[in-house]
Amino acid sequence: MASSPLRFEVNSPNRVEQRLRIVLLGPPGAGKGTQAARVACRFGTPHIATGDIFRANVASGTELGRTAQEYMDRGDLVPDEVVIAMVMERLAADDCEAGFVLDGFPRTVTQAEALDRRLVEQGSPLHAVACFDITEDELLRRLAGRAAAQHRADDAEQTIRHRLEVYSVKTRPLIDYYRHRRLLTMVDGVGKVEDVTGRILTGLPSSNGGRDPALALAV
Ligand code: AMP
Repeated sequence: MASSPLRFEVNSPNRVEQRLRIVLLGPPGAGKGTQAARVACRFGTPHIATGDIFRANVASGTELGRTAQEYMDRGDLVPDEVVIAMVMERLAADDCEAGFVLDGFPRTVTQAEALDRRLVEQGSPLHAVACFDITEDELLRRLAGRAAAQHRADDAEQTIRHRLEVYSVKTRPLIDYYRHRRLLTMVDGVGKVEDVTGRILTGLPSSNGGRDPALALAV
């Protein structure tokens, strides 16, 4: 597949935007799901949320769901090889030619390297990684609210703390990983939903003069 130039203009609601390939990074409770859905809708790209895919597999009792469930219930990460295979298959689907918003993947350096390899092979590197900046107090407050509203087993208090530790140890290193590749934009994740979306969109590289994703991957 040939590399495509950036063809989106974030400040123009009338323009047809396409082929945005973006990762939303951040701790559990930071608002990745809400924001990823909004950004994907804005750009007409699929929203790929690994947690949602796992939960759907658990609900329908697939083998993948059975494998993932024990890790999810403990608040641990599902093993890299399982997640990577699942995401690579999803990225091969036709709708991803329009780009994608990845939510909850990658979560480890191994996953990020697998993603880079795949996208470089395809000549279609990431355009940006938006990482939510948010305090632990705010996260704990939000996750407690979500536990009550959605009855998610992994939002129980001790599991939440464990998930935040897992984020710190395994996922936080991706901030430097992507900063080094000049793809990272930090986004203040506190405030009204639409304001946070606006900050994400403003932080994306523009079609004329923004960061060059091809260069970023060459670092
Ligand atoms: P989430 O809805 O994104 O918070 O994900 C819920 C759970 O799914 C996580 O706590 C992990 O157990 C699992 N999961 C989702 N994405 C990944 C990933 N990229 N790597 C490993 N485990 C994941």
